This record gives sequence, structure tokens and C-alpha cells, in this order.
Amino acid sequence: MMTTALVLFSGGQDSATCLAWALQRYNHVETIGFDYGQRHAVELACRQDILTALRAQFPAWGAKLGEDHMLDMRLLSTISETAMTSGRAVEMEKNGLPNTFVPGRNLLFFTYAAAVAYRRELKVLVGGMCETDYSGYPDCRDNTLKALQVALSLGMEHPLVIETPLMWLDKRQTWALAQELGGAALLEIVREKSHTCYLGDRQTWHDWGYGCGHCPACELRRSGYEGFVKTAVPQ
Ligand code: ZN
Repeated sequence: MMTTALVLFSGGQDSATCLAWALQRYNHVETIGFDYGQRHAVELACRQDILTALRAQFPAWGAKLGEDHMLDMRLLSTISETAMTSGRAVEMEKNGLPNTFVPGRNLLFFTYAAAVAYRRELKVLVGGMCETDYSGYPDCRDNTLKALQVALSLGMEHPLVIETPLMWLDKRQTWALAQELGGAALLEIVREKSHTCYLGDRQTWHDWGYGCGHCPACELRRSGYEGFVKTAVPQ
């Protein structure tokens, strides 16, 4: 029975919304985070703030919220550095990330998550990947993740389902989903406590949350929020 889930939870807007989605849907939900030495390591601190706020403001969800698992994946930054010395020039891609960012990392994250899920007897893996605001990462594609679901289920002899509730939503719809799941209270938690900015800016406040306001991640978050505010039905 698919009643228990493990949410890939980074502390960003997408994964915070996915966590609420899972808490509404499943009986028991655990979270997993990956420390891979990312520039926006501040996201990892935001994770705890979001978990604390959800427990305080949504007691029914808090009762379903189980362990938080944090895996040290700093090995990935070692792979990045290796790639840098291999002769490939470091360039910024259109999504604002350097091309040294580890390719296929979502495949690794889901595989580690599946190993944790296996041991914890969790049946569903939930991730915030999305093709709509798709930044060009092939490991975010629906077909990639469906193929991975099959590979993991076969390779672990343990039926696992990968759910990606944001796959076909744009950022405006992701804000709307947060409101639908948890009303104004959840919207505030996501707005104030989730982190998106690639530069790790937690000082500059905007209507849509903290961030530098200029990087591609801030840009997406801002335009999504503005679109949401224009079309939102007040609750
Ligand atoms: Zn930013």
C-alpha cells in the first residue's frame, strides 16, 4: 500500500510545497536532504525552520511527519572539481549555474533516497522536479524519472513509486498549490521560510520571499508569485 512517503526536501519553494502535498496525502512522511556543499547551503538551514513551522501550525500534518534524514553528499563537489580539471571550460549556463554542476545528480539523489526508503519501509519517493520551468536538466524530465522508478523497483526488488506533483505546473501554479493545500498559513511559511536564491541571499526581503532578486532562481520565483497574486482568489 502506497501510504508512506519520503520527500526529497531541500528547503526550497518547490520541495516545501511537495512536502505539504505529501503530508495531505500519505499517513506517514519522512524527509531527506542532501548536503553537497552547494552554494545556497542556507537552504539546508531553512529546512529546519520549515519543519518546525509545519509542526507548529499544522498539528495534523505534524503527527504524520517522521524522521528527517540528512546525507553527506559532498563527494559530489569533488566530482565537480575533477570535471573542472578535465579541460572543460567553466561557463555559466542559461539557468545561472556553472556547468561544473554535477550532471545527473537527481538520479543519484533518488537512488540514495530509494535506499533509505527501502530500509525505512517507505513506499513513495516525492520530488519537486518540473519540466515546465525546466532549466534544461535532463534528470528533471518526467520520462527520466519514470525510467528511474522502474530501475529502482527492479533493482531493489521493492516496488517504489516516484511522485513529482509539480512536474507540469509553472511557478505561479506552484504558489497556488501551496494556498490550496494549506491556505494563507502555508503560503506564509513557503514565502518566508523557503529559499530559492542561487546566491544564498537571506537579507533582502521581497513580497515573494528572501533573495538577491536578480539570479534566474529569484527571477522565476518573483514572476511566479506576481502572477499568482494577480490571479489568486482571496481566502
Ligand atoms: Zn537570487
